[in-house]
Amino acid sequence: MEIKICWLYYDLLELYGDRGNIKVLTTILDNNNILYTLDKVTINDDRDISNYDFYFLGGGSDKAQQLLYKDLLSRKSQILEAFKRNAFFLTVCGGYQMFGKYYIDSHGNKIDGLGIFDFYSEGGTDRCIGNVVCKAKLGKYDIDLVGFENHGGKTLNVLNPFARVIKGNGNEFNSEFEGFYLENFLGTYLHGPLLPKNPEVGKFIIEYIILNKYKKEIDIDIDFIKYYKNAKNVILKREL
Ligand code: GLN
Repeated sequence: MEIKICWLYYDLLELYGDRGNIKVLTTILDNNNILYTLDKVTINDDRDISNYDFYFLGGGSDKAQQLLYKDLLSRKSQILEAFKRNAFFLTVCGGYQMFGKYYIDSHGNKIDGLGIFDFYSEGGTDRCIGNVVCKAKLGKYDIDLVGFENHGGKTLNVLNPFARVIKGNGNEFNSEFEGFYLENFLGTYLHGPLLPKNPEVGKFIIEYIILNKYKKEIDIDIDFIKYYKNAKNVILKREL
């Protein structure tokens, strides 16, 4: 078994430790003896990206999103091919926004999105900032999530939210819901980063990818990450 990972805009979409998602995902793969390749792709790199099993896009400043959106849009047909194969997409904040119709940044500039989903994000000078606690159901797993959000964009028209907010804002100020999740696409505002704080999400994603690619049901071990449950309980106690 081998998982092909594409880390898109690794140098431009990287806020609040988002790179930790790749670190934890690859650590879980290593500890479960699953081989992987990791390719980092950014603007003006014309390699074909249609053939990976997992895509990761982190969060970014308005400036970074402005800088890369045309490059991203030029890859739309390859991204759609990957969607057709049910490759898994994990996207955080700015990366999440860019799979919707558009993002209006804090200066009122419209940044076109891929338009793969119907949500759109509208920014302003006020920002949703702070710690977030929410609850999600991913496949058979009920997951308590903790994270940190900092976004000007309020994401609206989210038909398939990822999680129910217990504390924090989520998709917009005082939203009931956080992020977007549909089959092979997960978009979230949770930095923190997401997977180091919530490795259960990494377990779900890897099991999804293996089932999709090799038609095999496996049970990924994350218990070797010994401290995360305690750390999470400390955060939950503090925040609730
Ligand atoms: N620039 C976007 C916003 O402010 C995304 C920010 C982020 O990725 N943290 O909404």
